[in-house]
Amino acid sequence: MVIAQPYLSRVLRRLHYLAARDPIDELYRGWNWDRPPIRPRGLLGLSMGDVVYRYCPVRRDVWLRKVLGVRGRESRVMTIGRIVHSVFHAVYSTFMEASTHSSDPVGIYEYMVQNASRKLIGTGVPQEDLGWSLKLYRRLALGLAGSSSLRMIWHPGSRPIEGMLWLTEHHVDGSMLGLSQNLRVDAYGEGIVVEIKYGRYMDFQRLALAGYALALEAEYEAPVNYGLLVHVNGVPEGDPSIRVRGYYIDTSMRQRFIESRDEVIDMLMAEREPAKPAKNQCPESCPFYHICWGGSGGR
Ligand code: SF4
Repeated sequence: MVIAQPYLSRVLRRLHYLAARDPIDELYRGWNWDRPPIRPRGLLGLSMGDVVYRYCPVRRDVWLRKVLGVRGRESRVMTIGRIVHSVFHAVYSTFMEASTHSSDPVGIYEYMVQNASRKLIGTGVPQEDLGWSLKLYRRLALGLAGSSSLRMIWHPGSRPIEGMLWLTEHHVDGSMLGLSQNLRVDAYGEGIVVEIKYGRYMDFQRLALAGYALALEAEYEAPVNYGLLVHVNGVPEGDPSIRVRGYYIDTSMRQRFIESRDEVIDMLMAEREPAKPAKNQCPESCPFYHICWGGSGGR
């Protein structure tokens, strides 16, 4: 992961303590998808964003997407967020590739750096965003190689990929919960789900962790109790900064996710177009700004 194992263990120790004091109500486990409250009132194939994102105060964005089939404009912030995800994915796939060539963390790091541009361009990073993407890539590559090196010191004879069994861009079927059949989890491993975000922390972002945990539990019938929110900032202009927050995905987080899902399903099934809020409540970066208000917003 982006944090070395000893630090991850420290985060998990605190979360184990919370879990022991407040066990998850079985009704809120994803494997109980065939009964309330997990069973959805409608199977609408919602994306995680449809359920948890609260950029639009009246959820008109979901209405425009799902009912009218409108595609929003990708803002610059959204483009950077998409590239950040591509960088993480490129780093992990190159790490796996490198570890088939070398069992030495230094050799792995060198391989990763030598192949960085090829990998990033291959994952769709545009030429004009290559500079800052490479900076972020190198930072993450160093973290992975360093983590692997530490592990090999503590466990002589181990292989570099041991302890790194995180699946990135992991596909999961959310249809049992009324979500898309093709959800993509940023990273998943060892009963922990990871969501990567660009920009500032917002309280509702942690609900995505609960949503993915429920979907993974529904698919694999195995508990997913913990989540990590990884925030990347500082790019494209400055040095990348990465902050990791750990969460115990407790019953109340799961309840909030289910309530949010039900609210969206009810709105869509009621077939009532949500009224526009006051204009000053709409961020100009909203991808649907030009639809709701005309002009050139959404950039
Ligand atoms: S412009 Fe406003 S009302 Fe329209 S989708 Fe965006 S936030 Fe919602």
